[in-house]
Amino acid sequence: MTQKPPNHPEDPRTLIRELAEQYDSTNQNTYITIYFNKNEDPQYFDHREHACASALNTTEETNFHTTMERIKTYLHTTNATYGAIYASVIHDFFKTLTLKTPIYNALIVDTSPYIRPLARILDEWESFTLVLLDSHTAKIIDIDLGHIEKHTQLLKDIMNKHKKGGQSQARFQRLRKGAIHQFLKDVIESLEEHHESHIILAGPGTTKKQFYDQLPKHLQQLVLTTLDIDINNENRLIQESFKHISSEEQKATTRLVNHLKKEILTDGLATYGFDHTLQAAQQGKIDILFVEKDYKVKGCICEHCQIVRAGPIKDCPICGQPASETDAIEEIIEFAERTNATIEFTDDPFIAELGHIAALLRYK
Ligand SMILES: [Zn+2]
Repeated sequence: MTQKPPNHPEDPRTLIRELAEQYDSTNQNTYITIYFNKNEDPQYFDHREHACASALNTTEETNFHTTMERIKTYLHTTNATYGAIYASVIHDFFKTLTLKTPIYNALIVDTSPYIRPLARILDEWESFTLVLLDSHTAKIIDIDLGHIEKHTQLLKDIMNKHKKGGQSQARFQRLRKGAIHQFLKDVIESLEEHHESHIILAGPGTTKKQFYDQLPKHLQQLVLTTLDIDINNENRLIQESFKHISSEEQKATTRLVNHLKKEILTDGLATYGFDHTLQAAQQGKIDILFVEKDYKVKGCICEHCQIVRAGPIKDCPICGQPASETDAIEEIIEFAERTNATIEFTDDPFIAELGHIAALLRYK
């Protein structure tokens, strides 16, 4: 739900917007999209390459072969087990993405990059920050698309709970409290440098409560939950966090679907069904797009005029060029991504009843 601000070039949220902007304005099938999983059948891409090549026209085929050569070179050299490649030599376009979450092998040749699987990963794997804390150690772990992006560790030599001879008990306690307060301040400073993603706080005892109270308001609002678990078992913590994030994501989707119901009942900022949702997407009105998980619509597109129709391939009603066959839902997703909409994939029966696709709008 929370979108991380774009920062480094491989940021998938930046990439998906860039991919959504790409298309071949002459309706040639010149973009190749690959999602790879090296644990799956290694023959898959050879078979698909052969089948696709024979279905393309001469111009498309030349581009296909040279682009596939580049793709294969990349696949041979990358260490990634899962990932994606979006490429077209003729458009001088080559983007790759390493993924840490399993994905199905796919090779798609189309008039634009095929972004639906990536949109779904971005919907299902929210990024979050896990803060593991006790009174003298803190770890800040950024988790993005289900894998650990960054690990920051802070340590402080805080006096033991029990005073050593000499000083009074009161003075000792005061100093110790001050040291912990300063330590937590350092942790907060470090946390401020992280993205605006949700936070899960974990650790034993009362330190995390003290830490929460010490957090500035904008960070407090990002705290999803606190986990009372031994922070030495990092793997278990990460698993627990995934479970929590996943159930939060489902709850958030349910809340959004309820919001959609309300807007529909009051004839407010909502639309549904293929035609209306497509129109809203093209006009940049969509704030949140709801798509039934595996729903596809056979349709066609004229990339030159950016016209999409459900149903069999026809010539473009505006420019007269032969249109290209497409999954019309993919095209709605691309339009929505271009205008920074959030995309929710869901199996909620309400969305199915509305025509499998719907949207909350920014304006009418
Ligand atoms: Zn056209």
